[in-house]
Amino acid sequence: MLDFARAGAAVGATTATLEKTRILGAYLRTLADDDLRRAAVYMSGRAFPPSQRRTLGLGWSTLSKVVSSVSRHGEDELGRIFRKHSDLGDWAGEALDGSTQPSAVTLADVEATLETIRGARGNAKAAPLEALVRRMDPESARFFIKIIAGEMRIGLSEGLVEAAIAEAFGVPITQVKRVHLVTGDIGETAVRCKHGDFEASTITPFQPVRFMLASPVETPVEVFDRMGAGKVWTEEKYDGVRCQLHRQATRVELFSRDLKETTGAFPELVENAPAIGHDVLLDGEVLAHRDGRVLRFFELQRRLGRKKVVAELRREVPVVLVIFDLLWLDGRTLMDEPLTARRKLLEGLGLEHPFLLARLEEATDPEHLDRIFAETRDRGNEGLMVKDPLSPYTPGRRGLAWLKLKRALATLDVVVTAVEWGHGKRRGVLSDYTFAVKDTSTGRLVNVGKAYTGLTDAEIATFTQRFLQMTIEDLGHTRMVRPEVVLEVAFDSIQHSGRHLSGYALRFPRIVRIRDDKPVGEIDTLERVAELYDRYFGEKSEIPLSEVAET
Ligand code: AMP
Repeated sequence: MLDFARAGAAVGATTATLEKTRILGAYLRTLADDDLRRAAVYMSGRAFPPSQRRTLGLGWSTLSKVVSSVSRHGEDELGRIFRKHSDLGDWAGEALDGSTQPSAVTLADVEATLETIRGARGNAKAAPLEALVRRMDPESARFFIKIIAGEMRIGLSEGLVEAAIAEAFGVPITQVKRVHLVTGDIGETAVRCKHGDFEASTITPFQPVRFMLASPVETPVEVFDRMGAGKVWTEEKYDGVRCQLHRQATRVELFSRDLKETTGAFPELVENAPAIGHDVLLDGEVLAHRDGRVLRFFELQRRLGRKKVVAELRREVPVVLVIFDLLWLDGRTLMDEPLTARRKLLEGLGLEHPFLLARLEEATDPEHLDRIFAETRDRGNEGLMVKDPLSPYTPGRRGLAWLKLKRALATLDVVVTAVEWGHGKRRGVLSDYTFAVKDTSTGRLVNVGKAYTGLTDAEIATFTQRFLQMTIEDLGHTRMVRPEVVLEVAFDSIQHSGRHLSGYALRFPRIVRIRDDKPVGEIDTLERVAELYDRYFGEKSEIPLSEVAET
């Protein structure tokens, strides 16, 4: 531990990143595997590798109490020392000087103590902490406390630890980052890089792999330009939550997009996974799905973040997993295989409900892709994923092998009915516009939202003058205006809402254009809003899944 502390102190003593990397690299090179694993994790300011999903559960107050009780200094002096450093570890280093009986403490001792602290409850956490601190020299204690506090504060980012691993073992930094993306664990990364173990055993079941992500594109032409492929695969873009399923015999674990374990939230997937009959790591999207219909995201939300799901909720909001990738099969890592091969193996699994396959189509040119895209939208889907069939699975990367084609929804032409004075830098101008569509059944205007973005300061200034003259009722903060200004607004979605008489509210509306050319009589109608809602945001009538797995 003293070597660790000395290396940490030397890293902290220089501001030059190259020098930091060199010092840390030299230190890492001296370590045997187990210590290397520990040191890389601790240097990143963590007590445990993130993949172990462990937390110490030890607060600031316990830490400071332990240091105070070991220290020979009184309260006032401790306070003065703390103010000098404003860092728990640095404080502890000085506060404990001359107060401990140092003996050789190893990184293994540190690990064992952290594990004991984690396992202990409440006040019982203090004793093992204190016992180890008493055996440490002040410099070791300083760094031990930093590890526990979760911050090194020696100007060492995880990126620099990666660079130090590269330096220590003569491995290109890109390779280190790649291994780290796969393992999500800097300690494991260090050990693999030391041994040049880049490919062989890349996937360890129940250690989550970072998800491959997609880059956004606007048009089918752009898809072909950017991907540079003659032929692309398309899949529906399902509107659920990303999920990674690990299954080995009867053990099953699920992970969310941020690599948190979510096994408890989806028991139907866990119960049915053993029936898959193979050890697998699957990548897919969880959807709420009842009676052959995909339920709205809003329904799925009720299932998220739960440790346990009661039977009633399972009945009301059952889930399925729509799978689009296979990363590991019966001990074999498939990430470097092309998507075509992975998909073929996936189809060969013969999956059954609640496991379904993403619907797949192939497009050979932009026109073809555009047709598929239009059909997807007709089915009420928000977009299309486009994938290069020859691409490997690149964890954690938002590259060009996966693209997402999302077209902004149809815009609406609306009329401004009320305006409000702005805040902050918009103080003194009328900048927030409530707008309406026409309800043709009554002939009245009904509000559907409020927009405050999309116009330049100059436009807002001009509008302020215009709206002041158009005011029909001055309510102080708000002014009702004659409905004459027509705007075209874009938005993210439509919700049912009690806030407006129309019963609908546009989410995140923004002004795209001022439609001075358009008479108020021609603005969009409430029927059109209802139609868009039903089509895109209401309960979907059809689930576009692959025929292969439909049950
Ligand atoms: P975004 O959240 O807009 O970056 O879009 C990427 C997300 O779309 C992924 O993280 C998945 O959760 C989701 N998604 C839905 N369908 C698919 C699919 N067929 N392939 C990959 N990702 C998908």
